[in-house]
Amino acid sequence: MSSGALQETSLKNPAILSLIGNTPLVECTRLETGPCRLFIKLENQNPTGSIKDRMALAMVEAAERAGQLKPGGTLIEATAGNTGLSLALVAAAKGYHLILVIPDKMSQEKILHVRALGATTVITRSDVTKGHPEYYQDLAASIAAETPDGFYVNQFGNPTNPLAHEQTTGPEIWEQMQHNVDAIVVGVGSGGTLTGLSNYFACVAPECEIVLADPEGSILSEFVKEKRIGQSGSWIVEGIGEDFIPPIADLSRVRKAYSICDEESLLSARDLLRKEGVFAGSSTGTLFAAALRYCRERTEPKRVVTIACDSGNKYLSKMYNDIWMADQGFIHRKSFDDLRDLVSRRYQDGTIVSVGPSDSLLTAFNRMRIADVSQVPVLDRGNLVGILDESDVLTRLQDGHGSFRDEVKTAMTNRVVTLAPSAGLQELRQILDSGRVAIVVDQEQFVGLVTRIDLLNYLRRKVA
Ligand code: PMP
Repeated sequence: MSSGALQETSLKNPAILSLIGNTPLVECTRLETGPCRLFIKLENQNPTGSIKDRMALAMVEAAERAGQLKPGGTLIEATAGNTGLSLALVAAAKGYHLILVIPDKMSQEKILHVRALGATTVITRSDVTKGHPEYYQDLAASIAAETPDGFYVNQFGNPTNPLAHEQTTGPEIWEQMQHNVDAIVVGVGSGGTLTGLSNYFACVAPECEIVLADPEGSILSEFVKEKRIGQSGSWIVEGIGEDFIPPIADLSRVRKAYSICDEESLLSARDLLRKEGVFAGSSTGTLFAAALRYCRERTEPKRVVTIACDSGNKYLSKMYNDIWMADQGFIHRKSFDDLRDLVSRRYQDGTIVSVGPSDSLLTAFNRMRIADVSQVPVLDRGNLVGILDESDVLTRLQDGHGSFRDEVKTAMTNRVVTLAPSAGLQELRQILDSGRVAIVVDQEQFVGLVTRIDLLNYLRRKVA
């Protein structure tokens, strides 16, 4: 290929940007929707897996048209969430640099994902609030001011964010619903989606109800109902709910609001996957739970639309992981009122990671690494015959004769101290304090292991 041809292709936007928007809409047919019909707009099918692709592309193109963004310029934004990913895709596609200012509480996976797309990341403190120079939004604004050809995207204050939904998401829903929509159920992160849809439907179908779905702990639903800003709490659902009213959020046409707790949100998203096959994230669970409540409360048939805001892929290790759900107290497992309640991976449930005495040390090491545990029980046809931890493997390898091909039984500790389920927390603490893991055995039957994290999770669940 000649360098001329190379240059020409590098000037074009990759075709992936043309796949933003025009997402499908599907009807829920298996869940109980009262007298109503409920439809879901699948925004999880955008190229980076979220609704944010629309506004990221629109904000960048508006800045290009306004001359705020020069070729090869730099975008700056404060987020590692979906907006960060969408901006990273658009910046990579159009040849801009992107600096994302990210609070240090964000998950490593999200940071790795934006870096993989070529973004530069600046990690900052998450224990400071607005007005502090290290607060992520203040820091992003000051980096933008110091960066030549820098453009601070500022999704919370950028009017193109709602405009993107007014001009694309709204008309698409209107066409897909054959100009017949009675209600739309949405959440608010920046407020872009709600404001855009609210503006669009005020023109084409002023009688269409805009319904807010809000996580419990957020101040928005109380603001809609009582016009006052209350005390905010905390919630697990990601991407929606606020402790302030974002400058671009126009809630004036919202007549109805539902406050949904984390448990209902997450279980609703899991139901949506199992019953309707839609694989979406935690905020979709909030929207879907609110939409179902709205539908079931109606006495007349209505056509209701809600949104799958992002893909469930981003939540596999959390809400789609039964062990994480049980740790949070969202899945209620059989309770025994003894030490068995502290075992997060029970042998009987088939969730425990174990090895056999004849497995190789390499197999044991790989299983520990994949499951992110530092010890595994050694089981022979269901009977506990030993325990193997990282230091057992190291000792075996370091003594000069050992190799990863050796069998587990050559390295494991076989004189293990076990606890009966009826043992108290005091005995458990003694074992954990001595740096060991507790092994619970019920009348010869192996139940599972208890680590310090399991004890902490148990204590936290009791407080909640
Ligand atoms: N769901 C998820 C997963 C999100 O990331 C966001 C955006 N933060 C939203 C919903 C809400 O969208 P908006 O910013 O348009 O209010």
